[in-house]
Amino acid sequence: MGGKRRCEALENAAILPCISASCYASIHTGVPAQEHGCTGNRNVFRLSQPDIFSQVRQAGGVTAAVTHSFWSAFFNRAPFDPDRDIEYDEPDSPSINHGRFYTMDGYGSVNQMTPSDADLFAPVTNLAHRFGFDYGILHASTLDSMGHRFFHDCQEMDHACLVMDEMLAPYIVKWRAMGYEVIVTADHGQDERGHHGGHSALQQDFALYYFGEAQGPAPETLLDQLQLAPTILSRMGAEIPATMKAKPFLT
Ligand SMILES: [Zn+2]
Repeated sequence: MGGKRRCEALENAAILPCISASCYASIHTGVPAQEHGCTGNRNVFRLSQPDIFSQVRQAGGVTAAVTHSFWSAFFNRAPFDPDRDIEYDEPDSPSINHGRFYTMDGYGSVNQMTPSDADLFAPVTNLAHRFGFDYGILHASTLDSMGHRFFHDCQEMDHACLVMDEMLAPYIVKWRAMGYEVIVTADHGQDERGHHGGHSALQQDFALYYFGEAQGPAPETLLDQLQLAPTILSRMGAEIPATMKAKPFLT
């Protein structure tokens, strides 16, 4: 590490509307909802903009995703057909090569229908060992569901965050040992009634942690969610397309 900081803790602001699907689309395309056109969770389709998967593939890299099914629909093919798309290994794909997905079909505030986060950390690590992907995204939905159900300022969320921390911590060490840089962040915040989608600091702002060799801005810097895609591509050595206008925050 040569004396460089091992972990950067920063704050990031979501696009508007800060609804999950719109944020997923912006995280990976680097363009706002006004451009990609996803106005919310009921408007999921194959996006037309270049994204992290497509750019990494063009640079010769291998990609993986262990995420909600919206990511497969946005960046590979839509509509999501569970029988065909719940998992795939497609070495020639121009987007996601190795995908493992969950749908949360039947989701409600009492029955969350989320897989355990441990059941996502293991598959993405398994894919890394088996296929040596260059870029992978893991996306868990437990904390969002817990926040909708219990709101954030309560014992249940304290415990849920601790469980997530405890499950994630050993994997950060494993992934770093495998040579990966790691960014841990969220799609949006959540307010005191468990809501997100609108314009308030609690709904839009969330933490971002970076583990790797690059240098970040000052810890109090409020990042723009649109910076994530070009930042990741710059770390991957892949071309940043003209549609991604925000500046990378790691150097
Ligand atoms: Zn939510």
